[in-house]
Amino acid sequence: MLGQMMTKPLLISSLIDHAVRYHADTPIISVNTTGGGAEETSWGAVGHNARLLGSALTKLGLEPQARCGTIAWNNRRHLEIYYGASGGGFVCHTINPRLFPEQLVYIVDHADDKVLFVDATFLPLVAKLRDQMPKLEHVIVMGPHEDKLSEQLPGVMFYDDFIQTGDADYQWPEFDENTASSLCYTSGTTGHPKGVLYSHRSTVLHAFASNTLDVIGYSARDIVMPVVPMFHVNAWGAPYGCAMSGAAMVMPGPDLSGEALVKLIDGHGVTLAMGVPTIWLGLLTYARQAGSKLDSLARTVIGGSACPPSMIAEFRDTYGVETVHAWGMSEMSPLGTSNQPLAKHKALTEEAQHKLRENQGRPPFGVELKIVDDHGNTLPNDGEAQGDLLVRGHWVLDSYFRMDDQNILQDGWFATGDVATLDEDGYMTIRDRSKDIIKSGGEWISSVELENIAMGHPKLANAAVIGVPHPKWDERPILIAVPAEDETPTEEELRAYYEDKIASWQIPDRVVFTDALPLNATGKVLKRTLRDLYGHVLEGAK
Ligand code: ADP
Repeated sequence: MLGQMMTKPLLISSLIDHAVRYHADTPIISVNTTGGGAEETSWGAVGHNARLLGSALTKLGLEPQARCGTIAWNNRRHLEIYYGASGGGFVCHTINPRLFPEQLVYIVDHADDKVLFVDATFLPLVAKLRDQMPKLEHVIVMGPHEDKLSEQLPGVMFYDDFIQTGDADYQWPEFDENTASSLCYTSGTTGHPKGVLYSHRSTVLHAFASNTLDVIGYSARDIVMPVVPMFHVNAWGAPYGCAMSGAAMVMPGPDLSGEALVKLIDGHGVTLAMGVPTIWLGLLTYARQAGSKLDSLARTVIGGSACPPSMIAEFRDTYGVETVHAWGMSEMSPLGTSNQPLAKHKALTEEAQHKLRENQGRPPFGVELKIVDDHGNTLPNDGEAQGDLLVRGHWVLDSYFRMDDQNILQDGWFATGDVATLDEDGYMTIRDRSKDIIKSGGEWISSVELENIAMGHPKLANAAVIGVPHPKWDERPILIAVPAEDETPTEEELRAYYEDKIASWQIPDRVVFTDALPLNATGKVLKRTLRDLYGHVLEGAK
């Protein structure tokens, strides 16, 4: 016997319809890509334009699920494309602009993009590569018509004109909720980037989960600033979660400096901001200098790489901002865990409660985690055993887009490439990426733990730890340290700082000072580059 309830497919178009119906005048602030400040629009206007776009793309004669690429910052047109392309039954394929040109060409070809939407600032890049993208049919600049842009790439269309070819009374098509909705390639440190193809169903379920209180819980009273780029796992799903709850949004555009972000937070009353730790380093430095109190900001969601405990503490103690430490990956849409306490934790001392907020948190309904040893045996959730982290769930991929070897799952579980511990309540601590963990004389050292400690040193602005070849121990950790402004920490004092915090054999053998760490397009430290640069420093050591 079936239940007797209505069934409607879970489609992305229903999210924007909801926002238009009940939150039409809620503001969307969008920083212009080519300067000139911010413009204010609304969910109502974004929804209207998304519908025009869905219609215009259909009139262009695209096949259902044709890929529509984007090379763009976080702005309102990008938001409209998220809804117009997916809602119209096409696949919104967000492309990371800072990829190597060869990778960009590879991705556009592999995805078989038919349309490419680009912010004006990226037009020179696309113009240079246009000849290498023979299957691409249309390039659309995300803005109004400008003659000088047409000259850069003859034949380009302009977004503001293009959407006017659509019908305002266009109705979103209905189709199977398992239909592909969007596509995102992982950065691929080795080999070609791999495509993760999300579905309408996985996206809407992920939005529901992100809207639960212990995950992110956007609300119609929030002003949300996703600093995490829309080309990086759909800005962690913020565009969908915010439409679902009717939250206002501030789209920060290209300038992600501490100064620009503090001004946006203070100027628009941002209550919730999301991004990777490196972004917040810049923001905290500027806020300190400028004396901003970040008054409106109530919460930050930090993930993408491990959030140093010192950062959580500074947000909390100096600004009264709660940090939700979250973990996930492109293959998981991305949310896998988030850190919120349990009722029983209220009985703990304040210090113990703070300590508990430092790890990557626990999974929401819809995600399961387990850790296994080298032979695939499940390890205990005791907070001690560490192993390869496997996941499964409603928004976890089961195969990569158009890849030959599709046997990527292990008995229905996806191997994340992370090494973690899990405790009895499901709280996870990421020890490392398996390729970054340091193997010293048969023991494992967590680079994340060593970095977290270093980040607590007041004379450091940033720090990374890598394992480098050592003649006796196979590998030993070294610390690559970026001094804070006007500080000159010494190797001895930094090594001494570790002494009462970890076992002595885990203390980095060497400290190398540098002005800045190499970062990838999403603000993560490029450890491979660091290993290339500093891999030799312990040659000849004893
Ligand atoms: P990539 O970084 O390879 O471009 P992703 O953005 O999908 O791809 O990154 C996912 C990886 O980022 C995870 O497997 C994990 O190693 C790391 N990561 C994400 N969030 C955290 C976190 N809060 N703490 C530690 N590592 C994290």
